[in-house]
Amino acid sequence: MRIAFGAFQHEANSFCPQPTTLASFQHNKLKFGSELLNESRSTATEDAGALTVLCAQPDIEILPLLAAKAGSGAAIQKAAYTELRDDLLQRLQAALPVDGLLLVLHGAMMAEGEDDASGDILARAHAILGPEVPIVATLDLHANATERMARQATALVGYHTAPHIDLYETGQRAAEILVGAVRGQLHPTMALARLPLIVPAENARHTDGPLSGIINRALELERQGAILRGSVFAVQPWLDGSGVGCSVVVVTDNQPEAAREYALEMATTFWQRRADFIPELVPADEAVRRALVGEERTAILCDSADAPSSGSTGDSSTILRALLGADTSQHFVLANVVDAPAAAIACAAGIGQQVSVEIGGTLAPQYFAPVRFSGYVKSLHDGVFRFKGQGMRGVTYRMGRTAVLVHEGIHLVVMEHGVTQWDPELYRSLGLEPNDARVVQVKSPAAFRAAYKDIADEIIIVDAPGAASPKLTALPWQHLERPIYPLDDLAFTPTVI
Ligand SMILES: [Zn+2]
Repeated sequence: MRIAFGAFQHEANSFCPQPTTLASFQHNKLKFGSELLNESRSTATEDAGALTVLCAQPDIEILPLLAAKAGSGAAIQKAAYTELRDDLLQRLQAALPVDGLLLVLHGAMMAEGEDDASGDILARAHAILGPEVPIVATLDLHANATERMARQATALVGYHTAPHIDLYETGQRAAEILVGAVRGQLHPTMALARLPLIVPAENARHTDGPLSGIINRALELERQGAILRGSVFAVQPWLDGSGVGCSVVVVTDNQPEAAREYALEMATTFWQRRADFIPELVPADEAVRRALVGEERTAILCDSADAPSSGSTGDSSTILRALLGADTSQHFVLANVVDAPAAAIACAAGIGQQVSVEIGGTLAPQYFAPVRFSGYVKSLHDGVFRFKGQGMRGVTYRMGRTAVLVHEGIHLVVMEHGVTQWDPELYRSLGLEPNDARVVQVKSPAAFRAAYKDIADEIIIVDAPGAASPKLTALPWQHLERPIYPLDDLAFTPTVI
């Protein structure tokens, strides 16, 4: 049995001012052909989970295509997208005959001129393989599952978790469904229910809150054997394009009516809970004051609006400004910012030297104004570290040249490149222990809650600007189809495609 395998992941954020280029993939992950198979199978990723299942079956020959991953950011530049997509498709063409295709996608990928890039890739792969060859794709929980994606794939398999801690298991499940379909043991049928709804990420969690009950219903149906997979997609909300919205996808084994029924049921609950996704936000000065008073504990200042994993630039100075305005001399405070010029100045000055630098607003000056920071260079680093928590465990991140600057109790991590901030290893790799801190700034809306579970005594979501602002009604939308909640209040009855 010949199974083609590829990965092409990017999460768009239309409000990010920095373009996503070929270099964005090269910085993150870009592997060709057999290089994919040399990757560590121990990482907590969909790739590792899928390859583990495929490799365990002796009659399966894996045909590796391309693995391109760029994290979150603005729509991919057209030439870069076309080059990577066509490379993947040419490798698929060259691999024929193929019995099945497994694609690791995100589902909220946009390219310039192509709002539904995931659907574009699936459609082109389908055209190459023909109608009889199964295609199964994994998707992030924040996917924008479109009608085209559902029509062009045999099964779409989304995460069950936010914070995302089941990437590996999602890859495993997708591979099992694909192999079952190729062997003729499964006959996947899929139903999609789409909603005119976007939700901020802060309260869209599987652990508690409005999404958890819907995900638990999908898990219950899977345990009962009623469905093969139920995916609840709380779409990445900063997609200023056409055909954007939350959705539910249900895959059954040759039970199309059941797929439709359960998709409709879960989509109806999702719609009914729509108002419960709006988070409570605390102004930055108030958040800092609240974190510093009272008993000794660790408070997380959640700077979700500037989360690089949501497509923001990481160069916000909002919380730093509030920290500098407070008395932190008796506290251990951890903060971070993307600021390549300041990192270069600190590196040139050297460890132990005093520096006075402008911090913030180097990438997104429309959101962030610089603030003056005077302190000493405590340490300098190459910025390479590895996640150790459940989500993306084992994956390497690169902050580039990184300095820790100290002013009173503030230990400010100044990094050259933005990275996903789900894991306290960002700080620990620099010798800074979040468990010992009174205040820890984390730029992530929800995914950090898994690895920070035993550190965070309190989580305060800060009202701050940024490309990943949860204040969706305040963003400068241009292309989003209306009406859509929460921008509009509308009556709606879910239907199934
Ligand atoms: Zn996600």
